Amino acid sequence: MPRSTEIRSQPVKSKTRRTIIKAGGALFVSVVTPLPALASQILAVRVWPSEDYTRVTLENDSDLKVTHFVVKNPERLVVDIEGIDLNSTLKDLVAKIQPNDPYIKQVRVGQNRPSVVRLVFDLKDEIKPQVFTLAPVGEYKYRFVIDLYPAAPQDPIAALIQKGEWNKENPATPPLAQAPVAPPKPDPAPLAEIKPQPEDKTERNPKVVPDEPRMQLTRMITIALDPGHGGEDPGATGARGNREKDVVLSIAKRLKRKIEQYPNMRVMLTRDADFFVPLGQRVVKARKVQADLFVSIHADAFVQPTARGSSVFALSEKGASSTAARWLANKENSADLIGGVNIKTHDRQLASVLLDLSTTAQINDSLRVGNAVLKEIGGINKLHKGAVEQAGFAVLKAPDIPSILIETAFISNPEEEAKLTDERYQEQMADAILTGIRNYFAKNPPLAKNRLT
Ligand SMILES: [Zn+2]
Repeated sequence: MPRSTEIRSQPVKSKTRRTIIKAGGALFVSVVTPLPALASQILAVRVWPSEDYTRVTLENDSDLKVTHFVVKNPERLVVDIEGIDLNSTLKDLVAKIQPNDPYIKQVRVGQNRPSVVRLVFDLKDEIKPQVFTLAPVGEYKYRFVIDLYPAAPQDPIAALIQKGEWNKENPATPPLAQAPVAPPKPDPAPLAEIKPQPEDKTERNPKVVPDEPRMQLTRMITIALDPGHGGEDPGATGARGNREKDVVLSIAKRLKRKIEQYPNMRVMLTRDADFFVPLGQRVVKARKVQADLFVSIHADAFVQPTARGSSVFALSEKGASSTAARWLANKENSADLIGGVNIKTHDRQLASVLLDLSTTAQINDSLRVGNAVLKEIGGINKLHKGAVEQAGFAVLKAPDIPSILIETAFISNPEEEAKLTDERYQEQMADAILTGIRNYFAKNPPLAKNRLT
């Protein structure tokens, strides 16, 4: 295979390159252990490109020893996998890299030496790799994961501005769908203006009546929409093979477009494509854009296919409102295990979010918005429970953002699976959630921002 030849011949091409590769080689030698008698097999190769990061997952029948190092000029990531021989599954990785991948130009795969396969990722930009292994879970055997994060991550608001999805301070601007896309140039000056600033107009305006039926907003409202699961984590799967991660993304995108029709509301999606976002990271994203509301969108599943109906959940401080709610929260919280997070960085991220702050006020607001949304959903689907339920969902733990989790229907119920994939139902669901949100804000206008951090 010409590509593998290319890899082997590379180190002698230039002096600097040889030095760096040698350094990597020395590292490799220092961790070498006796090879197992039988070579391991790579069972599957998956690539999840996204603007946040690109993930490459290799699924294996045993836990593999992997070493990696970065090479500069041009930027490359070299990954050596020990104890395996090159097979066709692994070779397929080459074709799985899309030309529009944000971080990977191409990958070269070759047998570097007996029982060592080398992957060389040619990169489009400087990256910070995270390479880690995951123990078997759910349907998955052993996985090793290569996450390619940008070395200089973009500010989330700057990213939204660049996509033309944030610059909405002036209500006179046309709906976003028609607005020209902002030039791809993060300019610090206008950015500072657009960032949500603390305002106190509400307090100065005595005419704002809390029970005003129409939504009267004195400042931009930011909604964080969180389509559950994604990437390695498909969520629940229906009998006809429809996956939760796909239907909830579709509903979230519809809801986003509807919210954007209102000049005083804007949306941040925690994911806008099929990739995994760790639970804590979803909360971090919402807090970075100073969201006024966090809405996580899911589709329920249960062993009995007769289970049906929509539900809305809020966080609970002291125990779940029912055994079923606790069970569901545990199931949703296991997303990180299936989606795959690097434990080393994970704990640090969570520590910064889940501060030891009281969530009492957050929960009260969440119950209010939850009830407003549940009431509207009751108009389009049977409700699983007549009231907002509570449990310890990890994704609802932002201490300063009212947060709800909506189970839009049971994907494990064949009738509801059909609904969830039906465009009309998705539209109705998005409309119901939107009406609920707007009713909530009409009765509870956002006050001046007073952040804890
Ligand atoms: Zn879910």
